[in-house]
Amino acid sequence: MQTRITRMLGIRHPIVQGGMQWVGRAELASAVSNAGALGILTALTQPDPEALHREILRCREMTDQPFGVNLTILPTLRPVPYDEYVEAIVGSGVRIVETAGRNPEPFMPRLKGAGITVIHKCTSVRHALKAEALGCDIVSVDGFECAGHPGEDDVSNLILLPLAARRLRIPFLASGGFADGRGLAAALALGADGINMGTRFLVTQEAPVHMNVKQRMVTASERDTALIFRTLRNTSRVFRNSVAQQVLEIESRPGDTDFEEIAPLVKGTRGRDLFATGDLDSGVWSAGMAMGLIDDIPTCDELVSRIVAEAEAIIRERLSALSEP
Ligand code: NAD
Repeated sequence: MQTRITRMLGIRHPIVQGGMQWVGRAELASAVSNAGALGILTALTQPDPEALHREILRCREMTDQPFGVNLTILPTLRPVPYDEYVEAIVGSGVRIVETAGRNPEPFMPRLKGAGITVIHKCTSVRHALKAEALGCDIVSVDGFECAGHPGEDDVSNLILLPLAARRLRIPFLASGGFADGRGLAAALALGADGINMGTRFLVTQEAPVHMNVKQRMVTASERDTALIFRTLRNTSRVFRNSVAQQVLEIESRPGDTDFEEIAPLVKGTRGRDLFATGDLDSGVWSAGMAMGLIDDIPTCDELVSRIVAEAEAIIRERLSALSEP
């Protein structure tokens, strides 16, 4: 299944791994890339730019296939030296970068000057058009179903993706809610050149996350996510555990939400520890509605092969048959 995006990225299947904080490490990114999709390391998972440089080298030892690095620019508890992370990425010879969260303009001259293919992840068509105008090569269009930060427009992918297809000239990935071959076939039909999957890749053998988290996500349904930080206009879709419920309770009180009250509950280091220990109520973690479609913990290779085979069968047997005389 070759598309503009498989050709641009040099990958065998039109599937890209979502840039997940604390999850996008060499173990997962290399397994995804070895499966013929595009693995993604997340820059801010590493404590500093030097550690990111080492992680990129480690990933390169684990795969000879292309992989990318995600750089997310969103509010953080501690200031992030973004320019230094960009230098670590460029200096490590990475060929593909996914920017997310905010306008990538400040980093574009450095990234494009180094010949890097830039994918910008965004949650609206207007931001996708802006990314196209800035010279991004691909956009990843993230619908309301997605894990993490879906933006504030609340437009789901059945509307967002065809709108993107009508307006964009550069190719785009469909992101948010994708977990199976039906989703891949639908995304291609809606005009995308591939899919981006985070939650589905988190629930794989190779994801460096405690088995308790994966098993809980297998038993969870599409109704088990919560939207926190709505009152701060930094909405984030997370697993609906007791900590998420506490945050929602604080946000439901009259008056402005004081982030200082929420910060100790949601800080990323608690999420990192939750993934390491498997203590499911020790913090919050990003999870998408795609959980409803997940009922096993395959290897990345099994998962990618299955999704592509399912999508091909749907296109060949079901959709083509509908148009036969
Ligand atoms: P962190 O510990 O710095 O912050 C924890 C959470 O609080 C994050 O969601 C952050 O956006 C939010 N936050 C921080 N300061 C805030 C403020 N002043 N007002 C409102 N919200 C605030 O974050 P981390 O877990 O170390 O993650 C590092 C970065 O990766 C953050 O920018 C985070 O948003 C981002 N991230 C993105 C996704 C995604 O879906 N794209 C998922 C997880 C994390």
